[in-house]
Amino acid sequence: MTSIAENIAAVSSAIREQELAYGRRPNSVCLLAVSKRHSCASIRAARAAGQRDFGENYVSEALEKMQQLPDLDAIWHFIGPIQSNKTASIATFFDWVHGLDRLKIAERLSRQRPSEREPLNVCIQVNLSRERSKSGVDAAQTRELAAQIMELPNLRLRGLMAIPAPQADPELQRIVFRELKQLFDELATELEQSRVADLDTLSMGMSGDYPAAIAEGSTLVRVGTAIFGRRRD
Ligand SMILES: *Cc1c(COP(=O)(O)O)cnc(C)c1O
Repeated sequence: MTSIAENIAAVSSAIREQELAYGRRPNSVCLLAVSKRHSCASIRAARAAGQRDFGENYVSEALEKMQQLPDLDAIWHFIGPIQSNKTASIATFFDWVHGLDRLKIAERLSRQRPSEREPLNVCIQVNLSRERSKSGVDAAQTRELAAQIMELPNLRLRGLMAIPAPQADPELQRIVFRELKQLFDELATELEQSRVADLDTLSMGMSGDYPAAIAEGSTLVRVGTAIFGRRRD
């Protein structure tokens, strides 16, 4: 079995290779290590290997880890479905939220974001393939929600996120990623110029499809299994 440090090195070099192969700017794709259902020891090992961004799906599990790792100096991303009774914890303890798909939740997060902290970075989750989950807005609703989020003082809209249905063929994987990239580009041209500056994130690609996502313009890949191994459920 390879170590976590070796896995991070392997995924990172695969990312750099894809950047080169598809004319992407070097180091323009961020690696988010998805540590849900993995131990604090695994997170520490990843941090020691230079990994700084971590993704978690469950609020209580994440808060427990943060408490046990107070000196980690990590950037925490909430990537799971957002329940309205958990927004206060998410707004208080996370740096990013990737799965935003409702104005009500956005308003709560903005209201509950502590005033001494930077605005919470958020991505709108878009449901393109409509297969794997019920989360995410339709492509057609994206622009309206984006405009509404931009009115909220304590949120900073950074971009779009999607979780396409698993698909083994890389050419087929690319079709959905291409759709999200197109939607992202349209959004960037339609929004007021002054507000587009923060729009720099396309959160797409997981262990099974991140090379295809990078080929189509991903700026952030969310990788769990390829770094930490199989999850204990
Ligand atoms: C679990 C999860 C991941 C990581 O999945 P792997 O296949 O283990 O890389 C990425 N994104 C989201 C939203 C997840 O829930």
